[in-house]
Amino acid sequence: MHRPDQTRPDLPALIARLDLKAKVRLLTGGTMYGLHAEEDIGLAEIHLSDGPTGVRGLTFTSGPPVTLFPNASLLASTWSDEVLHETGRLLAEEAQAQDVHVVLGPTINLHRSLLGGRLFEAFSEDPYLSGRLATAYVHGLQEQGVGACLKHVVANESETDRHSVDSVVDEATLREVYLLPFEMAVADAQPWSVMAAYNRVNGVPATEHDGLLNGVVKGEWAYDGVVVSDWFATRSTAQSANGGLDLVMPGPVGPWGDALVAAVSAGEVDEAVVDDHLHRLLLLAERVGALGAPRPAPAGLPRPDGRVRREQLTKLAAQGMTLVRNERATLPLERGTTVALVGRHAIDTICMGGGSAQVRAVHQVSVEEGLTALLGSAVRVVDGVEVRSRAVAARAGTVLDPVTGEGGVHVVLLGADGEVIEERHERTASSMIGVDDDLPAPVTEARFRAVVPRGGELQLGALGVGSWRFAVAGAEVGRIELRLSSDDAGEAILRPPSGTVLAEVPDGALVEATVDLRSASGLGRPGRMAGAGLFGLVAGPAPRDPELVLGEAAAAARDADVAVVVVGLTEEEETESVDKATLALPGDQDALVRTVAAAARRTVVVVNAATPVLMPWLEEVDAVLVAGLPGQEAGHAVAAVLLGDREPAGRLVTTWPVADGAAPAWSVTPVDGRLPYAEGAFLGHRGHAAGRAPAPAFWFGHGLGYGRWQYTDARLVTGPERPGAAVTVTNTGLRPSREVVQVYLRPADPEQPVRLAGWQAVTLAPGESRAVEVPTDPRMWRRWDVATAAWAQLPVTGELLLARGLGDVRAALPLSDD
Ligand code: BGC
Repeated sequence: MHRPDQTRPDLPALIARLDLKAKVRLLTGGTMYGLHAEEDIGLAEIHLSDGPTGVRGLTFTSGPPVTLFPNASLLASTWSDEVLHETGRLLAEEAQAQDVHVVLGPTINLHRSLLGGRLFEAFSEDPYLSGRLATAYVHGLQEQGVGACLKHVVANESETDRHSVDSVVDEATLREVYLLPFEMAVADAQPWSVMAAYNRVNGVPATEHDGLLNGVVKGEWAYDGVVVSDWFATRSTAQSANGGLDLVMPGPVGPWGDALVAAVSAGEVDEAVVDDHLHRLLLLAERVGALGAPRPAPAGLPRPDGRVRREQLTKLAAQGMTLVRNERATLPLERGTTVALVGRHAIDTICMGGGSAQVRAVHQVSVEEGLTALLGSAVRVVDGVEVRSRAVAARAGTVLDPVTGEGGVHVVLLGADGEVIEERHERTASSMIGVDDDLPAPVTEARFRAVVPRGGELQLGALGVGSWRFAVAGAEVGRIELRLSSDDAGEAILRPPSGTVLAEVPDGALVEATVDLRSASGLGRPGRMAGAGLFGLVAGPAPRDPELVLGEAAAAARDADVAVVVVGLTEEEETESVDKATLALPGDQDALVRTVAAAARRTVVVVNAATPVLMPWLEEVDAVLVAGLPGQEAGHAVAAVLLGDREPAGRLVTTWPVADGAAPAWSVTPVDGRLPYAEGAFLGHRGHAAGRAPAPAFWFGHGLGYGRWQYTDARLVTGPERPGAAVTVTNTGLRPSREVVQVYLRPADPEQPVRLAGWQAVTLAPGESRAVEVPTDPRMWRRWDVATAAWAQLPVTGELLLARGLGDVRAALPLSDD
């Protein structure tokens, strides 16, 4: 017999207590990251925070220092449900510590074109890997009472013209590939929210896509959670409300509000539709403890910079690092080895990507710091070539706030009559103005003041839109005009323009940079973003002659037992809101690697990037470790892996091509607003395997680890719905190691791409053997039949492949229907 649960709120009764205006008010955010409370029904404020690799808090940059996790593709490279579950659990703790109810992640768009600027935030090119790992991550979060948010539904794989681009994807590809990770996570983990993307999907904005949101997500998948818009993505009232969007973010201003009340009164939107949105929102509130029984207050959570977190994060990062080349067993390094550690990324290690996934990290350990902590004076560090084209804000230690004496700058915000509106100390020498803050009056001028303890010929300058003037010890030394290059409102915040002048700065001199913001008004879109953005002071050594740098690197490499060159991308390439133009390493980094490789006895290259880069020097070096964007403990994780204290047991989550364009999907530039996903279901390794792109440098699934593996006794096994594979694996290497046994389905029909259908990991001691059974997921045996608009089953024909990536197939098991 069904008995009403006395402890659970009766949602329809609560909804019935509100009038239309009060209901509609709740369906748009109250602030940038918070929802409205409603005392009358006992609803508390719900807090949402990015996500996905750290809980930033309720502001864009001015939040508290928090834990910075490894980036998503590095975590995914573990191919480990347990690691992703653990990540979710730790993120939930971070959320609880900040009173956050929903973490805006995981991002499960796919690595389609490798030019996509935001791939670092997403798991993989493979829908099955993404769906399974997302499931574990969502469980990890939600088991602790913190909501997850799958994003972004759907076909949101690149950034160019991201607010208007129309992703043109045929229905079968949409279902089999791009919707699949969302479908899997919804079915297997019931996430409490999903986010509708900025882009259009086949002509219709994702935030008002009735077919997708009402038809597929809420209809076919019977999803009961909240569909929230991406920030500022909603462009309509009735279409989006009727199209399945439940919540508009951010607020309090937006396209719903009074306009939605009027649309209901005019009969364009049924009040029952509003009630359904609110029902979902209240269900979310109940789930996260903002309605009904409150969430128990957590106690004794680890500190972001405490020992517990540091160990957890070092381990998380190291596990995903992927050894793609290791000639003559160059790695791991023996203790006692002398090391020439070369490259800008060794000193200025990139620990995270740019954009909304960024957090204010408690600290970021460089490879220099990590390796020196283990090897001490056996490491000699040499800075490398320049890796950025834009200037960055001065580092805290290189400039001091003249008022507080701390590292950073003193910022004074002035109003129209020259009155001081606010003064701030900023330790990063940059300040977000007009975004997170609630200033009492418009700011017309901002002054950045800093003492430079060690002078010389410096590069002095600024970032942020406006007219800048620079003074050293009171005397003007230059002026710069900085403008936006696009009409994307996000540019002023996410990638503000920068400019520099060279100036002679005496030791201990006061440097002042003043920006007139009046010329910055009218930026991007009209409204709240106008005149706002990130501003900062640039002060650092002038760039050095590359020939000198290469000479120094070669000399150091010659003197050491081994050279470790750390190369990579920066937040200029791996960031929200811009795509890349090439996979080549920026600056003269290729020349740096070649120069070092020619001089050194052995050369190890560490790639500090989340996504594939070109390696024209691959055959000239002994080992290559892909380290991703490893989070706050980056340097410790890299050092532990280089010395073999931890195994880099990762497997690539994306195929690495040999050249620009040598991949099944490439251009990210819409033509007449449209971006066709012309490769269909043949993205990444699926397309390479079908001969639609040249053989890659490294296949999806490749990774050497520190073991060596023999596969014997491979056979098919009967599964509950579809066959799986079994094999005995033996670690024939000299060290304990983790193997990822991958099973791919190669259908007999050439129109159907080869695909990952299952995997199972096993950790074995040297000499140990284990029989491993790998079931395949029945969802990988379907194809979307356009004629009947329904799933059709693939016949049990073709082959199951046991492979360490498709470049190293260990067994092919023929399938037969009988
Ligand atoms: C991003 C989302 C993010 C949101 C909130 C948007 O720019 O696309 O992924 O969650 O901002 O910060």
